[in-house]
Amino acid sequence: MHVVAYLPKEERVHNGRAIGIDLGITNQVTFSNGIKVQYAIPMPERIKKLYKAFSRSEYDKRSKRGTKLLQKIKSKFQHQNNQKKDINNKLAHYVTTNYEYVAYQNDCIHSWSKFYGSRILQTSIGGFRNCLKRKASTPLEVGRFIRTTGVCMNCGTVQHLNLSDRMVVCPSCHSIFDRDVSAANKQEGLCLGNLGETLAEDYASTSSMLEYIKRIPHVKASIAVEAPNKRAWPRPQGRGSSPV
Ligand SMILES: [Zn+2]
Repeated sequence: MHVVAYLPKEERVHNGRAIGIDLGITNQVTFSNGIKVQYAIPMPERIKKLYKAFSRSEYDKRSKRGTKLLQKIKSKFQHQNNQKKDINNKLAHYVTTNYEYVAYQNDCIHSWSKFYGSRILQTSIGGFRNCLKRKASTPLEVGRFIRTTGVCMNCGTVQHLNLSDRMVVCPSCHSIFDRDVSAANKQEGLCLGNLGETLAEDYASTSSMLEYIKRIPHVKASIAVEAPNKRAWPRPQGRGSSPV
C-alpha cells in the first residue's frame, strides 16, 4: 500500500534578520553572534580495524562470515552518515527559519580534506553548507578568495594568522578579537554592505539559539569569550568586489 502525504510548503522567513557563518577545522561552525559549534562523529576503532582487515582481503567476501561482517561495516558507516546529516540538518533548520539573510564563504572544503582528512570526514561540514544553500530564504555567498580571516573587527587591519592563533590582537588598534567570530562577522558585513541593507541587530535570540544547539546530540556549543561589539564593525559602503 502506498500513502502519499502532501505537506504545506514551508514558508521562507522574511524578518530582515541576518547572520554570518564561518566554517572551520577547530570550530566546525562559528556564527557572527559569537556562538561556536563543535561536533565530530568518529568511526569506532573496532569498525576501522574490521574495514582494514577487509581491504587487505583477510576475509572472503563470499563466505557466510565475510558477508555478515561486510553488512556490519556498511550499516555502521550508514549510521555514522545519518548522525552527521542529522546534525547538519538541525543546525541549518534553525538558521534558515530564524534568519532571512545567511552569509557564508564558498571555501574549498574539498581541499581542506587533503590536510585534515579524518576531521572533515567526521563532520561533513560541506553537507551543512549545502543545506544552507538549499534552505535559506536569501543565501549570500562570499567568494572563495575574499579575505575574511585575520581582519580586525575594529579598524580593518589585515594580518596573517596560523591555524593555532585563536584570539588575535590587532597590531594597529590593539583590540582583541576571536578569529572565527571576526571572520563570520566579516562575511555578514560584506554581504549586507553589498545589498545596501542596514539591519537592526538582535542579541536577544543568541541565548535561545545556544540552548537549541546544545540540545542537538554530539554537538558542543559555546559563546566566544570576547563577545564581538558589532557597533564597532564598520559596514562596507558599497566598495570592494561583489561577493554575492
Ligand atoms: Zn584594529
